[in-house]
Amino acid sequence: MKFSEVIGNGTVASALSSMADSGRVAHAMLLYENEGCGALALALAYVQYLNCSNPSGGDSCGECPSCRQMSKLIHPDVHFVFPVNKGPKTSDDKPTSESYLKYWRELALADPYFTEADLQRAIGIESKNGLIAVAEAKSIISKLSLSSVSDGYKAVIFYLPEKMNQETANRLLKMVEEPPEKTIFLFITHAPEKVLQTIFSRCQSIRVMPLTKEEADRVAAMKPENDSEDYNIFMDLFSDLMRSLVSRDLMGTLECGETMAALESREKQKAFCTFAGDCIRKIFMIQQNMPQLADVRAEEQEFYADMAGRCGKTFCSRSIANIEKVVGMIDRNVSSKILFCDLVNRMFLSI
Ligand SMILES: [Zn+2]
Repeated sequence: MKFSEVIGNGTVASALSSMADSGRVAHAMLLYENEGCGALALALAYVQYLNCSNPSGGDSCGECPSCRQMSKLIHPDVHFVFPVNKGPKTSDDKPTSESYLKYWRELALADPYFTEADLQRAIGIESKNGLIAVAEAKSIISKLSLSSVSDGYKAVIFYLPEKMNQETANRLLKMVEEPPEKTIFLFITHAPEKVLQTIFSRCQSIRVMPLTKEEADRVAAMKPENDSEDYNIFMDLFSDLMRSLVSRDLMGTLECGETMAALESREKQKAFCTFAGDCIRKIFMIQQNMPQLADVRAEEQEFYADMAGRCGKTFCSRSIANIEKVVGMIDRNVSSKILFCDLVNRMFLSI
């Protein structure tokens, strides 16, 4: 991937290419983003640029052997680490990213803006939490101890370091602190506050900015169509919830809470929360007389206008805050039933 192919975040791309040009390449960097804003695309473009044998104008050539290997994600000196778990797509008892590399490549090549839920689905562990376990640290350390195949940079693109436990971090720490020559770690996080401090403090951090609406539309347009099924399920559930709320139907509201809690994985539950938060922001925008910012699909305009007219003035801001709290709690092993029942109850009280 070339920098010119990355959507949005031109300032970050320029900062990365300038860093490479200056020769002062940070050996550990943390790119933090809201999910889906292109941190992986930037990391891939950066590594491709660093190893390109014929760069020009602040971008890689896209044609040299190294660029061609990067374009298929098969560069022998570029390694990927991401959260995994046991699942039907591998027979490994203690799987590492290597066990799922084929699926990672397919996903990242089709859509470098994928979400954590997309990754879970791609590697077949939808119903489990992905983790970065100590076996992963051992595997990375042994790979980095070998001399590089090319004479360029060795890179580890480390997706979601917040999924790494203390033991894994301890193993990796020395390597991150003093990597072998021309070796870099690029961590991509959606939750910098959850990255272990020992790792975080050793990284130069870079904020990947949210995409503008026009950029997000371009990302959405290039995504494979696999999200439409989720969209319909989520939209049905969200509209059922809103209709129950505005008609003061407590039983209907609680049933929606139960349906949310029964979504098949925590990732799916979080994805629904994000979806519902976005929908409520649309209602808020319409209430503020800024429907152009709500960006509502034509077939949903009547629904949103109706809801905006029937929700109280503080419903949206309170609900968004409550939903964000729930997202934070989902990973903490709190019963989903209790979480979602409490959430819809609060929404009911603030409607
Ligand atoms: Zn090149």
